[in-house]
Amino acid sequence: MAFGTALVPETKNRWLLVSFVVTLLLLLVLLWNLVQTQQTLAHLEETHLRLEHAASELPLHIQGMQASVRIATESGDLNWRRQHQEHRQGVARTLKRIRQIESRSAVTETVARLRKHLEKADTFYQRVFERLVRGEKEAAKSVLGSWPYIRNRNALREQSEQVSRLLREDVRQRLAEQQQLVTGTVVAVLLLSLVMLLSWILSLRNWNLNVRQRQEKEAEILYLSYHDELTGLPNRRRFFEVGEMEIARTNRYGHPISILIVDIDHFKWVNDTFGHLVGDQVLKSISEALRPELRDGDLLARLGGEEFGVVLPETALRPGFQVAERLRQRAADMDATCDGQMIAITVSIGLTSTDLGESGLDTLLSVADDALYRAKESGRNRVVSKTLGSPVGATTWPYRESDSI
Ligand code: GH3
Ligand code: MG
Ligand code: MG
Repeated sequence: MAFGTALVPETKNRWLLVSFVVTLLLLLVLLWNLVQTQQTLAHLEETHLRLEHAASELPLHIQGMQASVRIATESGDLNWRRQHQEHRQGVARTLKRIRQIESRSAVTETVARLRKHLEKADTFYQRVFERLVRGEKEAAKSVLGSWPYIRNRNALREQSEQVSRLLREDVRQRLAEQQQLVTGTVVAVLLLSLVMLLSWILSLRNWNLNVRQRQEKEAEILYLSYHDELTGLPNRRRFFEVGEMEIARTNRYGHPISILIVDIDHFKWVNDTFGHLVGDQVLKSISEALRPELRDGDLLARLGGEEFGVVLPETALRPGFQVAERLRQRAADMDATCDGQMIAITVSIGLTSTDLGESGLDTLLSVADDALYRAKESGRNRVVSKTLGSPVGATTWPYRESDSI
């Protein structure tokens, strides 16, 4: 018989829900982290490029500026003034770019010093070009040869190289930070994955546990619905299921079958004399004593109270009688005691059998019940058999006429 999930309500797997929520949260955190890292990296890359560019451009423009003034002065060619202006604009552009990038304070300070020297240099260049415009080449030369100009020119070069060095250092530092960020992200991803994995392992373990518990519960319910709690024997429901199945088989193939009703004699007296608990113990003992007397295919069930039913498939009346007699004897031989006092236990058995088919379990049981009634009536501790349709009092069992109806 298949027991579906309807028997046991579905156990809610709280762990699965928790791990689902955790996984969802972790995925969101992961996504957010990746977007952040991506943005930061893109920004850093752009900054690095700008810094590198500025670091290499600045000294070039400063030197270019100084060289074009020198060549203009020496050659008297004023076309070099345009070259000078281009380099000057290049310096301004680079300084603007450096200002836009949030640099370390050392860079800002050096740039501030460089600006001062640049302003001074601008005044010198202005003077030089004014003289050149007027054709006073020597006067222009003397400006470039003057000690304040040379000092300022050298300072300017130094400052530009210093700025360039600092910018490159800045790039190196930022690269290290970027490396840290990437490492941090990788570690975070690994940790989150670990948490995710653990939560899934836990939830799966819990899931398995739930399934096992459910299966055990189902097996328990199945067992309880077919067994008697006190004796552990199959119950009335099982007796009817098996009995009807066996009788259907008998009817189909014309095989014999015997049905027995076993009833403890004067059981009320046992209860009244020794107490209900002793009565229970007697019920258990008798069940344990009778079960081994039967074959594997036979069924011994507790029908209720102190009444047991036996189904003996493939068994005609004669061998059925022998089995019933064995059961009766076994019960009579059973040692039941209470506080050292022997309790005499006997059973009466009503037996019926069919090998012609076409009779239902209810009919057979009522015939067996009739036989049991006769067994009680005729003194108990005996087996009486009766077959369907035999008139009361007729002998159906030649070997034990006194025990047959
Ligand atoms: P008889 O020989 O005619 O069968 O007499 P009896 O006393 O065995 O029959 P009766 O039907 O008068 O009494 C049966 C008793 O079995 C009455 C009831 O209290 C007792 N009984 C039924 N179920 C249980 C049980 O589970 N435990 C115990 N201890 N007693 C039970
Ligand atoms: Mg009884
Ligand atoms: Mg009874």
